[in-house]
Amino acid sequence: MSEKQCNTEDIKRAADILINAKHAIAFTGAGISTESGIPDFRGPQGLWRQYSPEIATIDYFLQHPKDFWLFYRMRMSTLFVAKPNRAHYAVAELEKLGIIKAVITQNVDGLHQAAGSRSVIELHGTMKRAVCIACGRVYPMEVVIKKIDGGQVPPLCDECGGILKPDTVLFGEPVKDFDKARKLALMSDAVLVIGSSLSVYPAAYIPMFVKEMGGKVIIINMEPTELDYIADVFIQCKAGDAMTLLLKEVKERLGVQQ
Ligand SMILES: [Zn+2]
Repeated sequence: MSEKQCNTEDIKRAADILINAKHAIAFTGAGISTESGIPDFRGPQGLWRQYSPEIATIDYFLQHPKDFWLFYRMRMSTLFVAKPNRAHYAVAELEKLGIIKAVITQNVDGLHQAAGSRSVIELHGTMKRAVCIACGRVYPMEVVIKKIDGGQVPPLCDECGGILKPDTVLFGEPVKDFDKARKLALMSDAVLVIGSSLSVYPAAYIPMFVKEMGGKVIIINMEPTELDYIADVFIQCKAGDAMTLLLKEVKERLGVQQ
């Protein structure tokens, strides 16, 4: 894959939109976390080229919780050590500047919060927690990892002995907080999409809601997306590069010290 440089004119147009918006939100997908070393599931190097997606279905989990957790533990060894990158920090800074009101993410890695974003809706849940499927008790994932590494596979609830499940949305489960995200999108006049191929529903409806209400859509992605046709600005380059330039441009216009 050739690495494209971000188009400066596109960055300026994106900054215009954000500066003029009254209520802008960010919508992020796997592409914002690839620079943190987290592979995109659907990309060329993606997880689903190596594993059948069946392993991440709720049915597989319920039928083979032990195999599921062995797979998930292996996966967590990459995801749990990941640190936020330039793009996550830029999103958090745009929130501090009052430019972005909230982040709606498809990611489960918790990197937006780690970068300092405060208003985050995690449509696909979070891998930072697990939940007992019998009583609903919530456990920090660190506690669950200790159980697994201590030989308890699948990990069990201390309270009731029920099986624990990552607090992520598995295939076949409904997304979380979709109504909240939808309401937020419907009151927004701009959405900054970063690192999503916009091919997973219902998540991909979020930028469509903004567009339908007359709002502007900015898309930053390495590859063309399914919804390029609704984009007012499409910036085809690395999320970290684009967000660094965009933040700089916004700060210049606000007269904020760099
Ligand atoms: Zn329980």
